[in-house]
Amino acid sequence: MIRKMNPATLEAIGEVQEAELDSIGPMVQKAREAQAEWASWPLQRRKASLIGVRDRLIDRWEEVAEVISKETGKPRLESVNADVLPSLVAADHSVRSMKGLFARRRVRFGSMGLMMTYMGRRSYIQPRPLGVIGIIAPWNYPLGIPFSQAIMALAAGNAVVIKPSPETPLTALEMTRLFDDADLPKGLVQTFIGGNDHGRALVASGVDRIVFTGSSAAGTMIMSQASQRLTPLTLELGGKDPCIVLEDAGLERAAEGVVWGAFVNAGQTCACVKRLYVHDLVYDRFVELLKEKVASLRLGYGTEDVDVGPLISEAALLRTEEMVERAVREGGKVLIGGRRAEGLRGYFFQPTVIVDAPQASCVVQEEAFGPILTVGRFGSDEEAVRLANDCPFALSGSVWTGDRRRGRRVAERMSGGTVLINNVAYTYGLPMTPWGGKSMSGFGRTHGEEGFSELMEPQHVHVDDGRFRREAWWHPYRWENMAGMLDALYGRSYIDRLRALMRLRKALKGK
Ligand code: NAD
Repeated sequence: MIRKMNPATLEAIGEVQEAELDSIGPMVQKAREAQAEWASWPLQRRKASLIGVRDRLIDRWEEVAEVISKETGKPRLESVNADVLPSLVAADHSVRSMKGLFARRRVRFGSMGLMMTYMGRRSYIQPRPLGVIGIIAPWNYPLGIPFSQAIMALAAGNAVVIKPSPETPLTALEMTRLFDDADLPKGLVQTFIGGNDHGRALVASGVDRIVFTGSSAAGTMIMSQASQRLTPLTLELGGKDPCIVLEDAGLERAAEGVVWGAFVNAGQTCACVKRLYVHDLVYDRFVELLKEKVASLRLGYGTEDVDVGPLISEAALLRTEEMVERAVREGGKVLIGGRRAEGLRGYFFQPTVIVDAPQASCVVQEEAFGPILTVGRFGSDEEAVRLANDCPFALSGSVWTGDRRRGRRVAERMSGGTVLINNVAYTYGLPMTPWGGKSMSGFGRTHGEEGFSELMEPQHVHVDDGRFRREAWWHPYRWENMAGMLDALYGRSYIDRLRALMRLRKALKGK
């Protein structure tokens, strides 16, 4: 039994029964049967069903947001902005994309020579659903992440089994209801509630892809386990996002953006700004602005008018405290924050800014999943890019400047999967844009065309109208035919190639 408490108030809020571990086999089997039925439904009916799921969320968004806030402690505005809204937009985007997803695509052979030599054949790509997608989700966006991944997988014709985080089972039940109440084949969307063992069971279950979102440590274990059955993976892992503020940036707006980007969801966002680098010329002014704005953040429980909620658990609070202590031991100075918040019952930690931490220190290099921002400085664009890329994570990042061309030059040299110019950390909410990283931030993409393509199999169909009796490479082998084919394609002159082609055609047509 999972017992849930509100991390902001420490009040018990509910209990949820875990699934039996060995129920995963029958669940996946049921999902396979449901997927076959789903794939046989006409497109219009499938679209209407997914619109139905979206409409259920529109009808119930306030209740759902409240459950998310109770379970994670996050401000209600964040539950709406980063969970409900991205889910609705993902549903719309998925429905709009459906027709195009299954469109047959002709493959062009390229040169005239190739077309003539391989005459009478055509190739096309028929995208097909992969089958059953296993989604393993984190707690920090307990609706926004698994819902958007699930609805895209359904749009691509798949069934899904979702393993939500054990920290957010109540949101998982709310999400399950949205799908259960809609017109979908029974078993098309199933939720496998439980802990890490349940995640391992799903990875071992023989699903057709695992879409995992979580820590890099878990990602490496999942990759090793998935290799046993060669189960394909999409790994959306941790981040340590850099943010570069150039001296020509609008400093007020940049400071507001950075503070939101660093402390949204109490710093518990993969794409939070974690490493800020500011140009020497504006460093002092910017750090002052930052301090002012951080000091004005209101901490408290999510249903009130507050800016920053608690950490998810006591363990997270301890990890954050330890990270600040290590940062100070390694030479960093706490500019503001650095301690548990006083006068609040839950797991609140003060939004913390650390300056002067060496680039090689833990607080700059390791993921700190809490409200800690480090600030460093640079003297040139080259140095800024070097510092931003000097980290094992590469999920996303941002650059702030008044000169868009300069911004693009810097952004395109930064190593994140997403780089924003003059904005920060919000494009997960634009599901038409791809999301994902590299190195310790994982690989593959969710969202965008790239995300859909990971949920489908590009089947190549090759059609030959059979106008030649045999191929140049079939038995019995004839050297002159193979050599003739090379001449037809790569002979010295156009005339040589044409002659070789005629001879070849004649040879292959004959008995
Ligand atoms: P976590 O890795 O502890 O757990 C994530 C999920 O994986 C949970 O459902 C958990 O039960 C399951 N799990 C854990 N170990 C597993 C294993 N060995 N096999 C199978 N399943 C396993 O992460 P978390 O604390 O829930 O989430 C925070 C982490 O997620 C942070 O590192 C954050 O950066 C990352 N995250 C990344 C993205 C992204 O898009 N890149 C988005 C959100 C969160």
